[in-house]
Amino acid sequence: MKMKLYEEGDRSRAVCHHCKQLVGTTFARRTVPFSDGHGEVKNILAGVCNICDHVVTVPAQSTPAIREARQKEVKPIEAQLPAIYLDVLDLAAYQVDSASSTEFRKVLMTLYLHRFALGEYPRAWLLSAHRSALERFGEHRGIARRRLSMKVTPRIAEDLKMLMAETALSQTEVIKSVIYQIQSDIIESHKPALMKELGTLSVIYA
Ligand SMILES: [Zn+2]
Repeated sequence: MKMKLYEEGDRSRAVCHHCKQLVGTTFARRTVPFSDGHGEVKNILAGVCNICDHVVTVPAQSTPAIREARQKEVKPIEAQLPAIYLDVLDLAAYQVDSASSTEFRKVLMTLYLHRFALGEYPRAWLLSAHRSALERFGEHRGIARRRLSMKVTPRIAEDLKMLMAETALSQTEVIKSVIYQIQSDIIESHKPALMKELGTLSVIYA
């Protein structure tokens, strides 16, 4: 797809919601607040209304900077899990790349959460992983627990919320189910295409 590179001072036309009409715009560097009022992105190129000076358009070249600023607002996700689940994640990370750090746990978790949320991995898998997890890793009283703590982007936090709503599982139970699926795909099945993909991710992220 061919896209135009805009520079400061370029002119265009767009509908201004403030002026409620088609207006002339001029591209300029602006600090733009997010629509929900939380945070802002500094010095991006934006199309500014020639009449009221409000930002009315943001060209394609500015969207990665907006996304980056957005992603910096991290959300903590925490769960107290039977210790075996952390062992599963660590072993899976080790199997992908024996040099990977615990940071790679997060890469695995976020990849799976996102794929489940997109429906790329069917919802039925998550529910069946949940049943299998409870059968396989029984939780008797006094079982040792460890805390999984990750900082994720707002998008992944949304993915997790959506999965909780759609499966009626708690956050902890969704996380256990995802870890069980990772166990099944990586430790048990060692799916070749997936292992290759994860190997590349580990070089980039962990
Ligand atoms: Zn205007």
